[in-house]
Amino acid sequence: MTSLLPALDETSGRADSPEAVRFGPHALDYAGLAGASAALAARLAGAGRVAVWATPTAATVVAVVAALRAGVPAVPLNPRTGGRELAHILADSTPSLVLAGAGDELPDALDGLERLDVDPDARAPGTFPEPPAESPALIVYTSGTTGPPKGAVLPRRALAASLDALEDAWAWTADDVLVHALPLFHVHGLVLGVLGPLRRGGSVRHLGRFSPEGVARELLSGGTMLFGVPTMYHRLAGALDGAEDSGELRKALAGARLLVSGSAALPLHDHERITAATGRRVVERYGMTETLMNTGVRADAAPRAGTVGPPLAGVELRLVEEDGTVLEDPASLGEIQVRGPNLFTGYLNRPDATAAAFTEDGFFRTGDMATADPDGYVRIVGRRATDLIKSGGYKIGAGEIENALLEHPGVREVAVTGEPDPDLGERIVAWVVPSDAGSPPGERELADHVAELLAPHKRPRVVRLLDALPRNDLGKIMKRSLGV
Ligand code: ATP
Ligand code: MG
Repeated sequence: MTSLLPALDETSGRADSPEAVRFGPHALDYAGLAGASAALAARLAGAGRVAVWATPTAATVVAVVAALRAGVPAVPLNPRTGGRELAHILADSTPSLVLAGAGDELPDALDGLERLDVDPDARAPGTFPEPPAESPALIVYTSGTTGPPKGAVLPRRALAASLDALEDAWAWTADDVLVHALPLFHVHGLVLGVLGPLRRGGSVRHLGRFSPEGVARELLSGGTMLFGVPTMYHRLAGALDGAEDSGELRKALAGARLLVSGSAALPLHDHERITAATGRRVVERYGMTETLMNTGVRADAAPRAGTVGPPLAGVELRLVEEDGTVLEDPASLGEIQVRGPNLFTGYLNRPDATAAAFTEDGFFRTGDMATADPDGYVRIVGRRATDLIKSGGYKIGAGEIENALLEHPGVREVAVTGEPDPDLGERIVAWVVPSDAGSPPGERELADHVAELLAPHKRPRVVRLLDALPRNDLGKIMKRSLGV
């Protein structure tokens, strides 16, 4: 493998280099990023692993790039993580240092760690030999949606392979300016959102905090692409529908080259509202911390609702039955298994979990269930553990019922789960955040709505009202907090 960040090497020492990252008023061009990361990298030699206090700032980008250049694995930490989870991640990853912005206040859990302040204004010359392709570049903790977060060890080879596959799918070039509002401690925001542009010499504008106005402003002033999670598109859809003047936002989204959603399923209802208002379709891609990106709708593909697209270049994907049989008929439901250069090397300190995650022939068991169209477009039904309900002899995907319920005007947000039932095996439960808390839709009304749209056996038997759904920092619904 040649360099992971070739654009950085090419521009180091050049004064006229293009903008690399911008966080509010703080921008770094490629020469500045090369200089600041070289200054820090020189201090990291031999550091073992380094933790990065991953606030959405230029300091975080400099810290990660410096670690990559020094060949020292970086462990991005979520600054909003509670003490117990942080303690678990630190005990598991045993970093020798924590890199943080000069003004950052660190919690007590980090007290025992040596701290090194990152100075984005430092400059030093320096070239660094490219570490081996299989050496660990990042250790990223999974989102903890289904259990305690696991540290996925990502080699440089996987980062390069996945970013190149996305370049191919999305015709991603150095001219692209990515509008970014995601956190920098997961692969979506860090690998796709930061290293993606940096690998090819493009630029990133980070909003700090997501807002529809910020998205509109950046897309109308040079931004070409937007990467977001479904909760962001939900808010954009709401802002487009809003009573206030949404003309700017409409124009901004309509003019963007690419709108991408990932990390969780994009509800069809939001997808359609955005298309209706802007004429644009949101492109979905499907990935995991462990595998980086597996599938994605190509930028030049004809729109097809409800799919995450075909496997990306270099990715082998198959659907497998519970007993391990590979499905011949893609229209049947099976677990997604993937193999390719995009895969991690294993979970940190979890040889058993790593062994259990791979098949004998080297495919990774994703735990996600899907069907596929005849031409290989994947349709995710949900996670085997939390989204597949076995009721009355049927296997029912929670997502389909959630999409149907979201079409009801009385439902603002919803999560569907299964719970034990003496007659049915499992009964379908809908956890509903009503549009109007004063007059929520009735249980019977919602059951009839689903029975009519889908089928009678897919209707919820129980409706539970909530003020808000339990979500993590990426906006993913934490179904395990709903007793699944
Ligand atoms: P944990 O593994 O700790 O329980 P997690 O699986 O949520 O948490 P991530 O690696 O961040 O951690 O998320 C990967 C999962 O996100 C996938 O396995 C899949 O279930 C879901 N996902 C990602 N993209 C999509 C998408 N476009 N549509 C539907 N689901 C998606
Ligand atoms: Mg997972």
